[in-house]
Amino acid sequence: MNKPLILVVEDDKPIRNLISATLKMHDYKFIAAENGSGAVLEASSHNPDIMLLDLGLPDMDGVEVIKRIRSWSGMPIIVISARSEDRDKIDALDSGADDYLTKPFSVEELLARIRVAQRRLSVIQTDKNAATSLFINGELKIDMAAGMVFLGDEPIHLTPIEYKLICLLAANVGKVLTHTFITQKVWGSSWENDIASLRVFMATLRKKLESNPDCKNCIQTHIGVGYRMIRIDPPDKE
Ligand code: CA
Repeated sequence: MNKPLILVVEDDKPIRNLISATLKMHDYKFIAAENGSGAVLEASSHNPDIMLLDLGLPDMDGVEVIKRIRSWSGMPIIVISARSEDRDKIDALDSGADDYLTKPFSVEELLARIRVAQRRLSVIQTDKNAATSLFINGELKIDMAAGMVFLGDEPIHLTPIEYKLICLLAANVGKVLTHTFITQKVWGSSWENDIASLRVFMATLRKKLESNPDCKNCIQTHIGVGYRMIRIDPPDKE
């Protein structure tokens, strides 16, 4: 895959410089903005592939930036937040961000998140071309038309809730989904944010997936935030 163009939005100059230097060192193309209105402007004029967005901006809430950009762009958005902004981070994910980094973060963490975003980007681009009812991720196969889930060639039996969960995670592979997002999609708003029940269903779903080593860790837990299905294939073609 070609190196993506990354938009860096951060008002804190030392952090912006650190991110820019890291991207430069790893041959990423990037542009930078130091506030929310600059971010919207750069995004609309340069059409970047990935955005790194600090949530605490001087002129505009980072969540507001996401809402504006999401009205016309599906690019992966990684939010950068301070620990004190945990609630904002969840709001950002619910508003359409894909992933998050908490300050202070290491250069390795930053690069790892960008690689996840790149894989997600390739999923988004593939989805545009092929409206398929078959989802394949490593050994995990979901035949949406038949309502069947396979590990390798073995069909596994899932309850209706587990099936809804795995389809939701699969449809958003690579993206962190918050507890609120998942419970509302699976149960509707009447079950608003019943995290305890979600945890139980997720545990039983995982247990069923664990019989195949390839799928053992394909669902990540983000404590206090939600869950993400990791893309197992295709392997990195960087
Ligand atoms: Ca800031």
